[in-house]
Amino acid sequence: MKEYILGIDLGGTNIEGGLVDRKGNVRFKTTKPTDSRKRAKTVLNNILSVAKTVIEKAKANKCKVLAIGMGTPGAVDHATGTIVSGAENIMGWKGVPIVPVLRREFGLPSFVSNDVTLYALGEAMFGAGKGAKEIICLTVGTGIGGGIITGGKIYRGAKDGAGEIGHTTVKLDGKKCKCGSFGCLERYASATAIANMGKQSCKKNGKGLILKLAGGSKDKITAKTVFDAAKKGDLAAKDIVEKTGRYLGAGIANFINLLNPEMVIIGGGVAEAGNILLRVISKSVKTYGLRISTKDVRIVLGRLKTNAGVIGAAALAWQEIKR
Ligand SMILES: [Zn+2]
Repeated sequence: MKEYILGIDLGGTNIEGGLVDRKGNVRFKTTKPTDSRKRAKTVLNNILSVAKTVIEKAKANKCKVLAIGMGTPGAVDHATGTIVSGAENIMGWKGVPIVPVLRREFGLPSFVSNDVTLYALGEAMFGAGKGAKEIICLTVGTGIGGGIITGGKIYRGAKDGAGEIGHTTVKLDGKKCKCGSFGCLERYASATAIANMGKQSCKKNGKGLILKLAGGSKDKITAKTVFDAAKKGDLAAKDIVEKTGRYLGAGIANFINLLNPEMVIIGGGVAEAGNILLRVISKSVKTYGLRISTKDVRIVLGRLKTNAGVIGAAALAWQEIKR
């Protein structure tokens, strides 16, 4: 019987589940809306329903499920398996004893951690980081998340709060962030920040390519519009890409100086911009980082795409059950 891990990724919009084999291949992918506006109990029931569907498919196809791995927004207390913070998008999610619930419900070893940390582990084991042991990972989307892999394993910190690169300060007295601090990287280099800069630039230049690519409607400008315009040579857009890349590079350089990784992996929606952004980031990392750590570091784009969440979730369980 072929062996699998059941990987579950709890996102703000959807819950995804699937069987993941030792090589990171996904089967029987199942998706259900999270219903994150409803109570935590509804969300929990949706998670259990996804898990049940996948386990039934596994049974019907003679696949053996060894354990469950799950990624969640927020932080998970490693000792009790309870959600402890940072999951504001799901009302009442804090305090849910997610690991004990999964164990009781399915009778399988269960492992849960922060979703971005698990994305990092997924990339490390099955994606762009294969073979590397010291990795920093960022996801740049609506916000900026981060994960640290050291010695090939996730680094949680004392309270599962490690790796929050999006909330490191890149500008003292800078813009206020939703975390309560000021000048966080996320306020200057997330997809949201890039789209805002795009909108801002239209105020100055009402005839620019950014606005044209958004069909003439300022509200339709996204990070992708800005990158597309930059790739076509639009100067205002190129300027935004330059600024964004500089901030990201500075944020990454802080982490590189601290952790001296072999590799930095950049994932999330903004990474789709590709080389145009990667070039500016690499230059900025060299400007702000120490040579001993920046000289040989590889800065690359993530390789796991649509199934990244499920694969990352399963990666943790694969690692844990080996012990
Ligand atoms: Zn912040």
